[in-house]
Order: sequence, then structure tokens, then C-alpha cells
Amino acid sequence: MTQKITKIAVLTSGGDSPGMNAAIRAVVRTGIYYGLEVYGIMRGYAGLVEGDIFKMESKSVANIIQRGGTILKTARCKEFHTKEGRQKAYDNLRKIGIGGLIAIGGDGTFRGAQLFSSEFDIPCIGLPGTIDKDIDGTDFTIGFDTAVNTAVQAIDRLRDTADAHDRLFVIEVMGRDSGYIALHSGIATGAENILIPEKKSDINEIMASLQEKQRRKKLVNIIVVAEGGTYGAVELSKVITENIPEQEVRVCILGHIQRGGAPTCLDRLIASRMGYSAVECLLEGRYNVFVGILNNSMHYIPLEKAVKQKQTVSDEWLKIVKILAS
Ligand code: ADP
Repeated sequence: MTQKITKIAVLTSGGDSPGMNAAIRAVVRTGIYYGLEVYGIMRGYAGLVEGDIFKMESKSVANIIQRGGTILKTARCKEFHTKEGRQKAYDNLRKIGIGGLIAIGGDGTFRGAQLFSSEFDIPCIGLPGTIDKDIDGTDFTIGFDTAVNTAVQAIDRLRDTADAHDRLFVIEVMGRDSGYIALHSGIATGAENILIPEKKSDINEIMASLQEKQRRKKLVNIIVVAEGGTYGAVELSKVITENIPEQEVRVCILGHIQRGGAPTCLDRLIASRMGYSAVECLLEGRYNVFVGILNNSMHYIPLEKAVKQKQTVSDEWLKIVKILAS
């Protein structure tokens, strides 16, 4: 890409996450600040393939920084997996003269962007928008902080009722095959145990710990389970009931409430910084990277490295869980 970029486009793809709107706003306003024309693409790669593209103005992104979801909508697009689909997408961008694409989404979105930019003359910049925090190379992903705070609020409420009835709640949180929502929300709510996919759960150890606490009459209210772990909440509750029949157990699967809602200050902030940086990347010729934040500095990681990689959970975190729940 040697031609100067004068028109850029932005899309949101894959699972939505709170803060995506703040990122769109930052892209649009930064682009306009630098004299670029900025286009919005509806429903991720689906809208790109279908040519559902429109010019955005500064006012197009007014009053959205505080809103969850994404004004550009999002979708999963099978056609973009095919060369023909990506060719259509490229033709649609070329028709308008768009010279750079900013894709906000998770690792799947990045894989699509990487493939697209390697096949066609379109630089792509990725912004990590996922509640799961499963992208290596960045301390933050847009939406994680909001999702984890939603989980914390819900678990606090469940603890009140659990405490009132001396019940044990097994609470399942989201995160696909990443345990970060479970780990953070579990520590922040004082959970007795946290089951995450990154560490194989030893069911005998969990039962022994619950039984030991029963013996010394320590009230155990909360176990947090990540959805992608070895045991789901329903399964775990059955095992507990079989092993400790006198313990009253309830299950709560938090589900999609963790995806929506107004983004937290942190998510708005990182989305704004990342959106701004994405435009700068395109202007400075730093192509085909995703924007991350490491140690409070912007980092630019080649899209080809953005393979799905769980940030390894430090053993120290797990030690903290154990000590604090004793
Ligand atoms: P997320 O971005 O949240 O991980 P997905 O994994 O569903 O969500 O990916 C979003 C979209 O990215 C897919 O629907 C598809 O259009 C595109 N995509 C994902 N992987 C690829 C790939 N290997 N090749 C082309 N496009 C892809």
C-alpha cells in the first residue's frame, strides 16, 4: 500500500462487548480530526461482503460512549471464510476508495482481518473487543472490565440470599475457554473456590475442602465456575449434593447479562485510547497489527501473532484464592 490513505472504514465483529461504541466513536472522531473520510460497516464482515457501508460524521457517534452493544451491529459471517466472499468485500471497499480497515472484535475477527490483509491491498488494524480477555499481548480487552463488574454485582446479590438461607450457590460465569471473568469476579467476591479451564479441577480436593469447612462450621456461600471449565455449574452442584447431602445447593448461570450494559470507565478509556491509536497506525503506515496496552503503553502486535492464546493464569492468583478462602 503506497497510496496515501484518505478514507478508512470501521466494523465490529464476533461477540459484542461493552465499550465497542466508545471505540467506534474514537475511530470516527480521530479520523475526521486528521481529515479522513470515515465509513461505518454494518454487521461486521457480513456488511462488508454485502456492501452495507455508509459514511459517518462526527455527529454519527454522538451520545454513544456510554452505551453497551454496538451501533454498527455485529454478526458472524460464513462467506468471509471463502476467498469469493473476501473478494466481494475487497471490491466493495475499492468501489468507495477505502484504503484502511479497522476491525473491532475477538481472535476470530483478527484471523479474518489477517487473512484479508494478506490477500488484498488493504491494511487492517485490529482492536481487541471481547469480554473474555483471551487475547495474548494486551493487558486489557474492551469489555472485560464491564463484564467482570456485572458478574461481581450479581454475585454480591446472590451472596446476600445465600447467607440468609445458609445456602451454597454455584455460579457460572462467561468467558468461553478463558477463566478470567471467573478468576477476577471470584476473588473480588470472596468465593470459596473458583473453577477455570486453565487449571484442571480436582473434584476430590474440592469436596474434601467443602467437607472440612462443614466440620468446622465455616459457612461457604459461593463457588464460581467458568463456562468453559471441566465442570459446569449444574454438574458441580450434582456432585456436591451427592457427596454432601445436607448442604443446600443452588445454581445460577449468569449468562448474557454479562455482555450488555453501560461500559465502565476503564472500558471507555481503553476503547478511546485504542480507537485513537488505530487511526494513527493507519496514518503512520504501521499496518496489519492489533492495538494492545501493556504496562500502560500502547503496543502493536502483528495480526498474524494474534492466534488465540490464553493469557496464562499465574499460580500466584490461584494461591491467593486458596489462602483467602480458608
Ligand atoms: P470473535 O471475533 O468474537 O472471536 P468469531 O470467532 O465468530 O468471533 O469471528 C468473527 C468473524 O470473523 C467470523 O464470523 C468470520 O466472518 C470471521 N473469521 C473468523 N475466523 C476467520 C478465518 N479463519 N478466515 C476468515 N474469516 C474469519
